[in-house]
Amino acid sequence: MRAKVLDVRREQDGQALREAARLLREGRLVVFPTETVYGLGANALDGEAVLKVFEAKGRPADNPLIVHVADPSGAERVAFVPELGRKLMERFWPGPLTLVMPARDVVPSTVTAGLSTVAVRMPAQPIALELIRLAGVPVAAPSANLSGRPSPTDAAAVEEDLGDRVEMILDGGPTHFGVESTVLDITGERAVLLRPGGIGLESLEEFLGYRPVLPGAGEAATHRSPGTRYRHYAPKIPLFLREDESVWDKVEPWAAGQRAYVGIRPPLASCAFIRLFPDVESYARGLFSALREMEKSGARVIVADWPDAARVGFALRDRLRRASGGSSIPE
Ligand code: AMP
Ligand code: MG
Repeated sequence: MRAKVLDVRREQDGQALREAARLLREGRLVVFPTETVYGLGANALDGEAVLKVFEAKGRPADNPLIVHVADPSGAERVAFVPELGRKLMERFWPGPLTLVMPARDVVPSTVTAGLSTVAVRMPAQPIALELIRLAGVPVAAPSANLSGRPSPTDAAAVEEDLGDRVEMILDGGPTHFGVESTVLDITGERAVLLRPGGIGLESLEEFLGYRPVLPGAGEAATHRSPGTRYRHYAPKIPLFLREDESVWDKVEPWAAGQRAYVGIRPPLASCAFIRLFPDVESYARGLFSALREMEKSGARVIVADWPDAARVGFALRDRLRRASGGSSIPE
């Protein structure tokens, strides 16, 4: 099987989206763009369809999926939504904020990895929203990459990883955020940040009136998001973080012609492949495709700039740390 790639940006009549929606209803897999990264979608109410997602990605079965809905009422269908959930939806949906809430019985255990909670979000991407609406079912969708690889931020990256494992890829162009959604557990007394993402910590703190509890810190350690245990986002070649300038000594063994650099500040050693971004938002947007590009360019090692932690920089640090093989615990 070779995936049909359909550019839905130029579509006038909605034919491709209707076909994609039909595939989803039939229990098949469809890749679609969201504002964060591309998602590998299946009908979230169909346990067997969801199993295919795990197979296609090579994803460990104990890593639960996020259920995508077209509006807040879609969330009520799969979760018991607490008052705080309604308020967060009003403020941050559609957008890259995933809420972990008690699951209703309709949600198969393949989606939740056997947990009593389900993760739900409403993406801010017209193609994704229309697809979910047309399908008429909630759509479980992790990132459309092979498990452990850098997340796909354009259709070409999806094809590279899953081109022969899915039926249809909807091409909506490059994604806006480039990092995944922020995952917030709202089942307890205080909201717990399970994964930093597109919505910054500052915005959540301002809204909640307190800083969400971070993983690794006491209470949150038990709430730990299962998926964050794994090494993830990693290119095939070693990646070093420019946390300080000693990084240049570490990459000394590689010749300049074998070194790649990605980030905001210019490198302090000569590197054959360089991708510079003007700010932290565009660094987040471009990181994963830069990593894939660099692997293919013939580079043998990558140095990645260490951004400030403000705004999306907090999530970017988490992804970079994990791409380098380090711990997933954000500071
Ligand atoms: P991905 O689909 O690769 O973007 O990853 C989804 C993230 O959401 C992973 O880190 C999961 O562990 C997390 N997640 C999904 N469902 C739950 C849940 N019920 N409880 C805690 N974390 C969840
Ligand atoms: Mg993923």
